Amino acid sequence: MALDDKERELVKDVVLTHAHLDHIAGLPLFLDDQFSTISEPLRIHASSEVIEVLERDVFNWSVYPRFSELRNHVGPVVEYRSFDVASILRIGSVEILPVAVNHKVPCSGFVISENGHSIAITGDTAEMESYWETVNGRTDLSALLIECAFPDELSDLAENSHHLTPSALARELAKFRLSHCPVFVINIKPAYRERVIDQISRSGLDQVSILEIGREYYF
Ligand SMILES: [Zn+2]
Repeated sequence: MALDDKERELVKDVVLTHAHLDHIAGLPLFLDDQFSTISEPLRIHASSEVIEVLERDVFNWSVYPRFSELRNHVGPVVEYRSFDVASILRIGSVEILPVAVNHKVPCSGFVISENGHSIAITGDTAEMESYWETVNGRTDLSALLIECAFPDELSDLAENSHHLTPSALARELAKFRLSHCPVFVINIKPAYRERVIDQISRSGLDQVSILEIGREYYF
């Protein structure tokens, strides 16, 4: 949704963490917009659980067309590629390692690598254990991107919906042993963005900054 027309034409692969609406909302409209100009099927990489939800609950002819059954003048427009946790998938020169995280529904974080450099991204999550084991073992990590959805005063809501608050973020980062590695906060709920940023800035987490939307980062 954030891309302009020319950027949209370059998208050949979409990798999904989970099926919550705020993480897939752009996909049906993207397919609709690009339908007539897609020259090779858009590859949707996701776990089998997420693909099942997409086909059953979104692309079900009631909410939106089942694009996996449709063709344009060139051929099929969608191809699902299911991935397994801990099994690397390759997209061009990029390697992506899915890592299980702790969300209300099946959800994957990723370690994304290219040319000997990696970044880790959590997707939506509450407290984690095995994710940190994977990330702490990486000697090539250039950045960690981690969610922090809600402010501290909504910790009950955060716990119930399996998200982090600034205090929970601090507890999680105590498990992150790569102290040289910059940490960027992502997925702040828009309604609470300023409060979350304020609480993080007062938490004394020197490693942490807020990922700026629209800025290009090089790792
Ligand atoms: Zn979610």
